[in-house]
Amino acid sequence: MLNYNFTSGTENNAITNIYYRGLLRSCNYRCGYCPFAKSQMSVAEQENDHKMLNSFIDWVEHHKHIRNIMILPYGEALIHPYYQEGIARLARLPHIEGVGIQTNLSFAPQRFMMGFPLFKIRIWASFHPEMTGVDEFVGKIHWLQAHQAGVCVGVVGNPANEDVIRTLRQKLSPTIYLFVNAMQGLTRRLTASEQRFFSSIDNLFLYDLHPPRADYAVCDGGRTTTFFNERGVFACPRSQALWSANKPCERKICDCYIAYSNLKNSRLRQMMGEGAFWRIPEKRAVHAIFFDIDGTLTDANGNIPPAYSHALEHLARTIPLYLATSLPEEYARQTLGTLWGLFRGGVFADGAHIRSGGDDEYIPVLPLPNIAMPASTKVTAYRAPDGSLYKYALTAKSASDVQQLYKTLHSDNYRLFQENCLLTIVDRNADKATGLRRICAQAGIDPAQTLAVGNSAHDAPMLSAAGYSCAVLTAAESLKNHADWTLNPDGLAAFIA
Ligand code: SF4
Ligand code: SF4
Repeated sequence: MLNYNFTSGTENNAITNIYYRGLLRSCNYRCGYCPFAKSQMSVAEQENDHKMLNSFIDWVEHHKHIRNIMILPYGEALIHPYYQEGIARLARLPHIEGVGIQTNLSFAPQRFMMGFPLFKIRIWASFHPEMTGVDEFVGKIHWLQAHQAGVCVGVVGNPANEDVIRTLRQKLSPTIYLFVNAMQGLTRRLTASEQRFFSSIDNLFLYDLHPPRADYAVCDGGRTTTFFNERGVFACPRSQALWSANKPCERKICDCYIAYSNLKNSRLRQMMGEGAFWRIPEKRAVHAIFFDIDGTLTDANGNIPPAYSHALEHLARTIPLYLATSLPEEYARQTLGTLWGLFRGGVFADGAHIRSGGDDEYIPVLPLPNIAMPASTKVTAYRAPDGSLYKYALTAKSASDVQQLYKTLHSDNYRLFQENCLLTIVDRNADKATGLRRICAQAGIDPAQTLAVGNSAHDAPMLSAAGYSCAVLTAAESLKNHADWTLNPDGLAAFIA
């Protein structure tokens, strides 16, 4: 029955991760677009699938270099007792660190998973709105998470399901990554607004919508990771090159997540970290987060979206939050409103005012020299409680006027920032990065365990000062290239511990 050459294909100690697909071709759900919907296997076919799984597990038992196994069934496997038992058997092997499976979660996990070493189990759960309700599905996910299983949730990016997907995101814990797969078979392109919606749900959605060119030179497929099915061993599920033939992959595009997550140089891989294999983001140990405000926490209208407010409230329960903004404190307070109390302090006025542990430090700025300014230039001076000046804001009627002011005032005494018709001036020693370091020193936090989130090139030094850096989806391209991650504030909780 077993016509594959698994053993000779993977006697390589470098292989640690295996994707496995057996002979199963059946499902208890009937999703309209799926060839396995309500298909049944004969008893003989199930027996063959069972034998193949057992044979695979026997092989894994004797190959101690295998660490992680992800089962990718065509259909639903976990309704079959032999898959339940097989996964439990794999998870109990001492050299196995994780066992994952794609599933529709149509069963009650607590019925048969109680005896599992759940900390080794990784569940890639697909939500099918036409087959199950949000509350029932979310209840199962939260049960698995509460019992230490790794979980991620996936949906198909069907524009007709926007409302239910939004509800699913709202009901799921923010710590759970909800990914959106580009809908195969959609007979039209997604509109810009639909792309924005799916990107707001899954900040990594565009990687799935526009999968990358295949690049076998930087691919882990066939090196540390292989895909195994009844035909043999392959570099990945998309590659047609048999691993044992020792030929490079000749595909043009890595056109599914399992494939493109193998590309070591991809940004998605960088963001997912060690969790890329499971599609469950690696949770980085972050001990403080510094948020810029304008354009980072606020939208184009200057408002903080409700989803961000909710995310900040969630994050503040476990991680100290700080602000790092060009706004003086009073404006920051006005913008944050009731969210102000979630922050333990921050860096205000481009670093000229640092609040930490209840103490305020102002970095004085020298008075402006007596220069001729363009007509209608408005100068606002900000003063500390002791009357000392710490920031100027100059507004002129045109950006070219401000550019002129920038050139005239540029000196070693000041740090200047221009944004359209606004020029801000602080002391040369004041900046967000320095403020971040001072707060860390005062609070006893290692900067290497902080996360800084911003949107403009102006935030780059602050992002460099933090151990982890994040640009929001609307950030300047230069900052996105500079940052470790491109995520919105409401996407962060799934990526940090
Ligand atoms: S749950 Fe998955 S395998 Fe089953 S019918 Fe739906 S899409 Fe197909
Ligand atoms: S298609 Fe698969 S094997 Fe080929 S480069 Fe992409 S991930 Fe690697």
